[in-house]
Amino acid sequence: DADLWIISPGIPKNSDIILKAQSKKIPIVSELEFASWFTKKPIISVTGSNGKTTTCYILYEIFKSKYNNSVLAGNIGTPFSEYVLEEILKPIQDRVYILEVSSFQLEFIKHFKPNLAVYTNISPDHLDRHLNMNEYISMKMELIKNLDEFNYVIYNSDDKVLSEKFEKSNLPSVPFSLNNSKSLFSIKNDKIYNKSNENLIDLKESSLKGFHNYLNILAAATSSKVYGIADKNIKKAIYSMKSIEHRQEIVQKIDEVEYINDSKSTNIESVIVAIKTFKKPIILLLGGFNKGSNFQLLLPHIKKSSLKHIICYGESGEQIITALGDAVRSFLEEGLHSAVIKAQKLAIPGDIVLLSPGCASYDEFENFEKRGEFFKKIVNKIS
Ligand code: ADP
Repeated sequence: DADLWIISPGIPKNSDIILKAQSKKIPIVSELEFASWFTKKPIISVTGSNGKTTTCYILYEIFKSKYNNSVLAGNIGTPFSEYVLEEILKPIQDRVYILEVSSFQLEFIKHFKPNLAVYTNISPDHLDRHLNMNEYISMKMELIKNLDEFNYVIYNSDDKVLSEKFEKSNLPSVPFSLNNSKSLFSIKNDKIYNKSNENLIDLKESSLKGFHNYLNILAAATSSKVYGIADKNIKKAIYSMKSIEHRQEIVQKIDEVEYINDSKSTNIESVIVAIKTFKKPIILLLGGFNKGSNFQLLLPHIKKSSLKHIICYGESGEQIITALGDAVRSFLEEGLHSAVIKAQKLAIPGDIVLLSPGCASYDEFENFEKRGEFFKKIVNKIS
């Protein structure tokens, strides 16, 4: 007897309860869709397989310098609807919504229409819930289904899937890239230049390290520029950015061994990015709850990296160690605790112990934050 269902992104669209509601013709919308009915404020939404949170934080840092009541919401903590309710109860000026959007939140979108739709990259993820890669991509594309000539798509043109989708699209679309000097911003020798060829940012001075973060910075800078924010605000915000917890976060150096917490690495692509970022010998902790990834895809990257040992652990530990074969010397441990202790025993001065699990955390932890905190607690006990 319900008139409308607003569903949590945790409920898959093909679950029995959803199918039953649909057979009874009960309209179903996502929380994102519902909240969007009650606000006219501008919305910048960021989606992709990796880099959403980091890009959103950079965007937030930039936007709050001009629109001081801007908020970060969506998949990132506070729900969009909670901030919209705040706006209904008390009128708020100068607000832009920066929304991190996951594929699950897009499953029941009807009229949702962001001013800017930002795509960081597309690689296999969540294949335990989406039927296959095509379904995952088409779900990501739901974000732009209501866009018109007044809204923009900002996309990573170094990404094959995205460049195929948007290069010839009818929608206004603006690319960003590490390689294309015709983009709004370009990168040469770790420096960002604008269209007038002025050196805007020295990336070596930024606390966000690695080429993946250069792309996240470009995504945020390009979106801000398209929105009309001045270069000086972009520059100031990027310099003031701090590194983000659980994303290649330096925990401690103990006996000349560096411990890195990359607990937010929950798919293969983020593991690849992590082993590319660090040049010292790496002892990698890999495992948890596998979301349907094929770990053999790591093999060509392992060969090119400075990986020394892999310690597989958790529910998927055995499956991963089998998939990787004898690429490097690998060990199997039951859980994260024993994996860290093993890594500590194996490490010698100059090594890096890297938790970049490439899996979800649900077999042992409530979420990736709890996993990262647990890792940091064990590391801090070692010292
Ligand atoms: P998301 O919100 O999409 O999960 P995060 O910014 O939280 O993205 O980063 C998740 C993981 O992906 C971290 O391990 C991080 O180091 C890695 N990462 C961040 N940005 C990128 C990127 N542009 N490409 C690939 N991996 C990335």
